[in-house]
Amino acid sequence: MEKEKKFKGSKFSTFIKKNIYLILMIVCLLAIIGMIAYTFAVQGAEDSTQTNANINDNQNVNIEKPDDNKPNENNPNEGNEDVETLTEIGQPVVNVEVMKDYTDTELVFNATMKHWATHQAVDYKCEKGEKVYAVFDGVVTSISATTLRGTTVTIKHSNGFESVYSLLDSKVSVKIGDKVKKGDIIGVVGDTGVFESADGTHFHFEFKKDGEFVDPNYYFEGANK
Ligand SMILES: [Zn+2]
Repeated sequence: MEKEKKFKGSKFSTFIKKNIYLILMIVCLLAIIGMIAYTFAVQGAEDSTQTNANINDNQNVNIEKPDDNKPNENNPNEGNEDVETLTEIGQPVVNVEVMKDYTDTELVFNATMKHWATHQAVDYKCEKGEKVYAVFDGVVTSISATTLRGTTVTIKHSNGFESVYSLLDSKVSVKIGDKVKKGDIIGVVGDTGVFESADGTHFHFEFKKDGEFVDPNYYFEGANK
């Protein structure tokens, strides 16, 4: 048995010695094939990553489009996401008494400016000094004061939404860059603006998506849709 094993072993090593070049060539060939296969595999992975990146870029472009309020066809969930966020916005005042509602088609007479125009905002009948609250979490991006609109605070929310609070008292409770939570006090109602002064003391609230006015009634929590 021992001899037979040795014999077999020596026969094998003889075979190796005789065919060493052939074996080395096969090993080299296999290595080259392996490298080529690996290169193709890596390129394929890069290509597919690139394609995904392009798809994401396209989606971003669609989301950023200022006039694109329609749900993105490439991403059917986008529309749902917006609605989810917006169903959660609160009222900016505690005593909700709408004096002039939102309209983007019907013209209403502005007794102060003596002209007919749409009213892309909601006016709440308020007393001076009545508290005004952030309708949703966000960051204060602007505080301005003009003769027409009085003191105005703008809060930027997620998903391109903005809430704008006009006709406030000049002493506001926030400053630019402040992070606010839904329900935080922004300021109080004042009589700092004249563009709707003929309507009496009130608070003028606007809501925007990607810079365009939207009807806040659609987005208040508990709103009938
Ligand atoms: Zn108004």
